[in-house]
Amino acid sequence: MLSIKDLQASINGKEILKGLSLEMGAGEVHAIMGPNGSGKSTLSKVLAGREEYEVTSGTVTYQGVNLLELSPEERAHQGIFMAFQYPVELPGVNNTYFMQASLNAIRKARGEPELNSLNFMKLVRTKLKALEMDESLLKRAVNTGFSGGEMKRNEILQMTLLEPRLSILDETDSGLDIDALRMVSMGVNSLRSPERSMLVITHYQRLLDYIQPDYVHVLSGGRIIRSGDKSLALELEEKGYGWLQEEAAA
Ligand code: ADP
Ligand code: MG
Ligand code: MG
Repeated sequence: MLSIKDLQASINGKEILKGLSLEMGAGEVHAIMGPNGSGKSTLSKVLAGREEYEVTSGTVTYQGVNLLELSPEERAHQGIFMAFQYPVELPGVNNTYFMQASLNAIRKARGEPELNSLNFMKLVRTKLKALEMDESLLKRAVNTGFSGGEMKRNEILQMTLLEPRLSILDETDSGLDIDALRMVSMGVNSLRSPERSMLVITHYQRLLDYIQPDYVHVLSGGRIIRSGDKSLALELEEKGYGWLQEEAAA
């Protein structure tokens, strides 16, 4: 699904990712944990194709294609979905319109017919119900004035609508109460399948009680310094990151 080899990336001339490698197979859920400032959001933005980041070395292959040559739009059309730590507000853009347009662009890229408004509304209502979300979110402008929790729920709603091949969730759990956390996890778990992969970036072990990852990686100083199974997350919860950073430095 995704193969990252020795990725180095910088912003404003500052090197953030310093040789990051990661292999993700189809059907796998990988979690990335790591201290603040270690480059987790940078990784997700580089994978999304945000142009302010400069990739200075390394390769990223997605389903056999050089991902770094694709525009952000092409990446989305090829089935990559990104839930950012700080979702973008689009004042004046209706949320329903935005989601319908996004879904139809992706359906078109997949060679599927577009959904008209009626059928889209049917679909979005079933997704809302499954996620125990309020319909009023649909009438508002995208993320505008949304609380942190509403933004994150809205991201998950988008994700379940778009049915991406590769989902990258950057701290979708931060600032969520337990109910919202459960709902986010439900959305993620409902999409788990042998054809889909997920990269879940989180600060907290708590999310991983709900979304059980196949692999856990620790990102520190722009590199993955340790990989393991979900027991690694429990170990980190108990011991913090210091011991791993010391080991990596040695
Ligand atoms: P994390 O998500 O792991 O907390 P980030 O990827 O957000 O870390 O940030 C990694 C490092 O990159 C931090 O030291 C941060 O200050 C730096 N950084 C992020 N954005 C910029 C920017 N626009 N200009 C300069 N440095 C930045
Ligand atoms: Mg952070
Ligand atoms: Mg971050």
